[in-house]
Amino acid sequence: NGTRAGVIGLGAMGLGMATSLLKAGFTVVGFDPADPAREGATDAGVTTVETTDAVFADADVIVLSLPTAQHVQTVVQSALGANLLAQGQVTKIIIDTSTSEAAISRALSAELSAAGHGFLDAPVSGGPAGAASGQLSVMLGGAAQWVQAAMPALEAMAAKIMHVGPSGAGNVAKLVNNMLVANHMVTTLEALRLGEAAGVHAEEMLKVVNAATGRSAISEIHYPNWVLPRSFDSGFSTGLMRKDLRLARELAAEAGVATPVADLAATLWAEGHSGLKDSDDFMLMGDPEVDRLSA
Ligand code: NAD
Repeated sequence: NGTRAGVIGLGAMGLGMATSLLKAGFTVVGFDPADPAREGATDAGVTTVETTDAVFADADVIVLSLPTAQHVQTVVQSALGANLLAQGQVTKIIIDTSTSEAAISRALSAELSAAGHGFLDAPVSGGPAGAASGQLSVMLGGAAQWVQAAMPALEAMAAKIMHVGPSGAGNVAKLVNNMLVANHMVTTLEALRLGEAAGVHAEEMLKVVNAATGRSAISEIHYPNWVLPRSFDSGFSTGLMRKDLRLARELAAEAGVATPVADLAATLWAEGHSGLKDSDDFMLMGDPEVDRLSA
């Protein structure tokens, strides 16, 4: 379609999203500080540039896929400082797919919209496979005007597009979802261990759970794909899972909501308890050779 899209952060998710944008006919320019990420993107057909500012200068629709809200803030502030998002310039839309923080999204969205540019919090679900196939689920926070303007890029990356509410609402929805993922993982692990110990193998137990009422994405997708074959390569790191659980619990504290289950899950996910490093794939939590629940 000829529109110039930019992708900042070409990691597990960003590279797949860049590929989906290319497939939909966008011209894609990208940046990542890591050499392997840049090389992978160049091989996929992305034009890589030397700075995040160069992406903002070159593209009209800019997708962010960064580790934390602080990275998002730094990248956008840099573009603002370089006058790349000034008033009166061609309208730019930033689609922030990072699992970020509502307060930061609201502040950036307010600052940008005052200058006539759009900022959507647009966190995603579906993993690297969903990103590469353009089949992500995306939950959006922001004004309808920007959602509409971002639609061609969103449709290239996602199969399910949900406009949840105003700025920050997408971040809230994502953190609540991922709090469930963190809880589902440890509770599924606990249940399967009980089944094993009492005489039903995990494989058989999963067949039952997935045909019955105890199922979740963890039992239907994650265990069959990454735990049973012992590949432990879902593409989502334990460090990111810990970040999401921490942010969800901060959200709960701000909202005055008790989360006793997530509080316990956070203890079980902690390095001191699970022995997992931040860089480990989060599916290693289910390694049948290690009892991470009673570690
Ligand atoms: P990742 O670590 O694979 O990729 C992040 C990339 O950002 C890295 O390549 C890193 O070099 C790059 N980066 C760091 N600082 C940068 C900067 N200043 N400018 C440009 N690039 C920079 O992580 P990921 O798994 O792709 O996750 C990205 C985001 O998406 C995170 O917020 C994560 O929580 C979220 N997310 C991940 C998944 C998943 O399954 N992996 C699913 C949904 C959402």
